[in-house]
Amino acid sequence: MGLKHHTVIFVPHARARFRKWRITNRQLAILGGGLAILLVGSLFTTWSFLTNSIDRAELERVRTENDSLRQINGSFEDSIRDLEHQLDQFESKTRELAIVAGIESLETGQTAGIGGPNQSEQDVENGRLEELSGRSDALRGTLTTVGDALDERRRWISATPATTPVRGILTSGFGYRQDPVSGKRSMHQGVDISTAPGRPVLATADGVVITAERVGQLGKAVYVSHGYGLVTRYGHLSSIDVEPGQRVLRGDPVGRVGSTGKSTGYHLHYEVRENGRAVNPIAYLLESPAG
Ligand SMILES: [Zn+2]
Repeated sequence: MGLKHHTVIFVPHARARFRKWRITNRQLAILGGGLAILLVGSLFTTWSFLTNSIDRAELERVRTENDSLRQINGSFEDSIRDLEHQLDQFESKTRELAIVAGIESLETGQTAGIGGPNQSEQDVENGRLEELSGRSDALRGTLTTVGDALDERRRWISATPATTPVRGILTSGFGYRQDPVSGKRSMHQGVDISTAPGRPVLATADGVVITAERVGQLGKAVYVSHGYGLVTRYGHLSSIDVEPGQRVLRGDPVGRVGSTGKSTGYHLHYEVRENGRAVNPIAYLLESPAG
């Protein structure tokens, strides 16, 4: 064939003249190649734009995720700090209670020296959580010990004669005195409180009634055992309101003021005994926080 060139003819619709270009094969090939390159180029641009936006979307997603993780981490950090603060308070409160309970030394469970040079943040966090958990466990144990000690102390306080059994006038103290009936010098094992007959006589501490009957010179008498070797005795009663074996609380009436037994007038004879030995009840009354 040997065709060397083509002719391109523009045919305008108006009355203008034709336009003709002569294009060689070579020029056509260049034009075709150019178009092909343009096409490939635009395809590549489109593709890279799409992939780029996917990357950007992915990046955005990761960034948002990271932000929320950081927030979660932050509030987690705050919670741990709150917990540590609360534990600090509980521990110091427990130490105060331990002092009240009379406990000499306490294990607080505070572990020291966690953390090292090559610990990751995760290790440090785990270490703090472990420490919190350990302190919490130790605190539970300590609180049980302190609670038991406080219970025991409360029992002991309730069982300690600390109040006056009846309102009245102290007419005779504890110790050696001139016996009001025989006139001889003798040991007075308690105190005498003169008051109106029939007034209720109140137990001065929690305990169990061990005697509720006439006892020689004491007349109608009630003995209350409080444990810890302590016994209180109430004598010269006009009537007895309790029975042996009965539990009484501090302030419970055990009988009424009278003048039974070896007595010269209406009064209560009140004794406190430690391990069987009569002691001055005034010592106990003086220790009373609120008569
Ligand atoms: Zn007496």
